[in-house]
Amino acid sequence: MTDGPTYGFDTLQIHAGANPDPATGARQVPIYQTTAYVFRDADHAAALFNLAEVGYIYSRLTNPTVAALAERLTILEGGAGGICCSSGHAAQIMALFPLMGPGKNVVASTRLYGGTVTQLSQTIKRFGWGVKFVDFDDLDALAAAIDDDTRAVFCESIANPGGYITDIRAVADVSDAAGVPLIVDNTSATPYLCNPISLGATLVVHSTTKYLTGNGTVTGGAVIDSGKFDWMASDKFPSLSQPEPAYHGLVFGEALGPMAYTFHSIAIGLRDLGMTMNPQGAHYTLMGVETLSLRMQKHVENAKIVATWLENDPRVDYVTYAGLPSSPYYDRIEKVCPKGAGALFTFAVKGGYDACMKLVDSLEIFSHVANLGDARSLIIHSASTTHRQLTPEQQKAAGADPEVVRLSIGIEDPNDLIADLDQALAKATA
Ligand SMILES: *Cc1c(COP(=O)(O)O)cnc(C)c1O
Repeated sequence: MTDGPTYGFDTLQIHAGANPDPATGARQVPIYQTTAYVFRDADHAAALFNLAEVGYIYSRLTNPTVAALAERLTILEGGAGGICCSSGHAAQIMALFPLMGPGKNVVASTRLYGGTVTQLSQTIKRFGWGVKFVDFDDLDALAAAIDDDTRAVFCESIANPGGYITDIRAVADVSDAAGVPLIVDNTSATPYLCNPISLGATLVVHSTTKYLTGNGTVTGGAVIDSGKFDWMASDKFPSLSQPEPAYHGLVFGEALGPMAYTFHSIAIGLRDLGMTMNPQGAHYTLMGVETLSLRMQKHVENAKIVATWLENDPRVDYVTYAGLPSSPYYDRIEKVCPKGAGALFTFAVKGGYDACMKLVDSLEIFSHVANLGDARSLIIHSASTTHRQLTPEQQKAAGADPEVVRLSIGIEDPNDLIADLDQALAKATA
């Protein structure tokens, strides 16, 4: 299958990136469990290392199974190129790597996965990279936060844990005006519900650990580049616009055009940081993506049913699901994720923190785990776990208040999910 974009999503999620194996005709993408690839001859090896010819050298850089997944995700996101990484967090570092340098900063939304808040506010400091957190609903504050040293703007399409929807188009307009790329973490929405690139994002990152794989089997991540950002337009991105000393002086932006960012991420990012996805992991995720649209439809349908039931229950204070008409983010669905607001949200239990803990311990079908986007329903008390390292102010801004629990609604029978919540709420609020 060569020319992706003429096919529908349901076709692409199965066929994109998955031509029959050229060696054997195998219909399913084989797991190429190999570290290295034999060069045809010495000239071939030199050409590959010069990026004069594209091919396989060593699996830290590229591997056919991993490449099939990268191509599939790139096509589903409508990008020009993409790479897969060992985890979602690896993907975030990889996405920032070609853009940042000591003294440079990223302007990030306050509403993010807790691990990302910690990664950006603490860990990247060690690289000399800075961060400024802003409420992305306040576009003036966002514009004001972007300064001469800002090299990226970062947000989530459907933000963890509250399920809040970011107005990606409006945020992209602010980023564009400042000449800075917008990175959107599309983990909670997946390309089935949201296409950040079509809304103006430069880069999309994923934790493929979640819905893309869909069953909680492997960790992985991906970075997809739109190919639309003009790296040569300013002197802000020297790794892409000027001779790259880490690759014998190649000017990636000149030599590789819309593939500059992707090739930089492989030739330098994966080569030197080594945050590579393994072929076995890529296989599981390829299997997951084949049924993505079907699962997401059911996730959304179930989330609506469960969120509506919770909102009408007197033991519940409020529910944050953007798919409820009561949500302040309800009007953004049409614009940002027209097929639905995902299946991730929080709700506040009357009785506060103690009742939340009791609820978590009383559920039977819901699993108490630090994960989301699984076929099975999951619950966690974010403030004491995934968002534990945040200050109370950061927790509040992220939507991870101590009196809320986060649900990741699975694809089980929704009546069973409601019955389980009903019995656990009874115990939690007794
Ligand atoms: C889980 C998650 C991550 C981190 O991904 P890992 O695969 O766990 O490293 C990043 N962003 C979001 C929105 C997530 O849910």
